[in-house]
Amino acid sequence: MGTADLNRETVTRYEAILSRISKAAFAAGRAADAVKLVAVTKTFEEAEILPVLEAGHRIFGENRVQEAMRKWPPLKERYPDIELHLVGPLQSNKARDAVALFDVIHTLDRPSLAAELQKAIGRLENRPAPRILVQVNTGYEPQKAGVEPEEAARLVEECRTRFGITVQGLMCIPPVDDDPETHFEMLARLGSELALPELSMGMSGDFETAISCGATMVRVGSAIFGERPAR
Ligand SMILES: *Cc1c(COP(=O)(O)O)cnc(C)c1O
Repeated sequence: MGTADLNRETVTRYEAILSRISKAAFAAGRAADAVKLVAVTKTFEEAEILPVLEAGHRIFGENRVQEAMRKWPPLKERYPDIELHLVGPLQSNKARDAVALFDVIHTLDRPSLAAELQKAIGRLENRPAPRILVQVNTGYEPQKAGVEPEEAARLVEECRTRFGITVQGLMCIPPVDDDPETHFEMLARLGSELALPELSMGMSGDFETAISCGATMVRVGSAIFGERPAR
């Protein structure tokens, strides 16, 4: 298949996802624009991303700071209204780079990282501070990033009082073998208890369920760009 055909297929899949998002929002009695699509482009290169940019999409997600630093500055130059989201774990020593590049960081999960983010935000001159979400490890998986649900309230409060960071919402990645709905419901309940407006939940396989549970951002990669090569 030629490049033009591949690009057309990507745009067709992208448009199908947009339409499924609107339908799921409608079915949940929510406005279509209450749910934002974060198109996750990890492992995909500029040539594969461009068709979706040209179709008008501007909100993208990456899960590694270094990969994003290589790919996105040239694209941001051409499309200044791109909104870039970090959806993967963040090491404290990359906080400064992350704050300089990303508009939304979904994965704050510890006070030491909040301290580094505060420092990095304090040094920013030419751009607004990124919006910050707290990642919650709703499945208590030892290998997974995120604060445990019982600790989320304390971290959100500590961000505000100690680090001057107003957390905008919560994010989770349910365990692969679990029914995601329980996890989405738990995150929604926590978000509502803490009066946080944003809920980042739902990926290619479960974004409609996440929308029915109140997701305001869904993070969809392979359903738009195709299967990813193994890292
Ligand atoms: C890769 C990734 C996604 C997108 O996953 P798909 O199943 O390809 O839609 C969403 N969230 C995070 C944190 C990711 O790393």
